[in-house]
Amino acid sequence: MMQQPSLKPRPTLDSLGIARKPVYLRKLKKRTAWDPQDISGNASRVFPKQTNSLFLVANEEDLYKVAAALNSGKSTHDGMNDGGSFIWITTDELEVCGIPLHPERDEQQIKCPAAQKLHKNAAGEEAVWLRLCKLLAQGNRLVPITEGQMKSMNQWLRPQGCWSYTENRIRKCDLCPSETAGL
Ligand SMILES: [Zn+2]
Repeated sequence: MMQQPSLKPRPTLDSLGIARKPVYLRKLKKRTAWDPQDISGNASRVFPKQTNSLFLVANEEDLYKVAAALNSGKSTHDGMNDGGSFIWITTDELEVCGIPLHPERDEQQIKCPAAQKLHKNAAGEEAVWLRLCKLLAQGNRLVPITEGQMKSMNQWLRPQGCWSYTENRIRKCDLCPSETAGL
């Protein structure tokens, strides 16, 4: 292993306030989209459609792959270091609200097949999302990832050949199983 002296400590699920695992993560357009005091606002801002994308995260590696994959559509190299905010949802909470999950392919620019595998489409009527947001208002669900934290995740993930960092799908990726390569 090569020494990387400038490597910053990477965030853990615990350090980001994710109290359980596995959890589903929902990416927020911006951090202020989630307001624990505004339940109906959360429902319309965070789950604006009948079908909303979630990512199943069981450990730190999953989180890094998903966070990088969601940055990988950005046009600039620096875009990969953009932080971002998520909320976390337990499998029980989705079940209680009767929200089914479908592993359909997301048409976002997800280059990493390993992250793609964690993607689920969650479907529900408006009232269902409102019910979920009521549940989520209990406890702190916000997972804000800073630029520095994203940088440290990238420093770890990128050398492993994750496809989120490629222009094209041409590199071998140890984290991305070849059978899902989609070449
Ligand atoms: Zn990957």
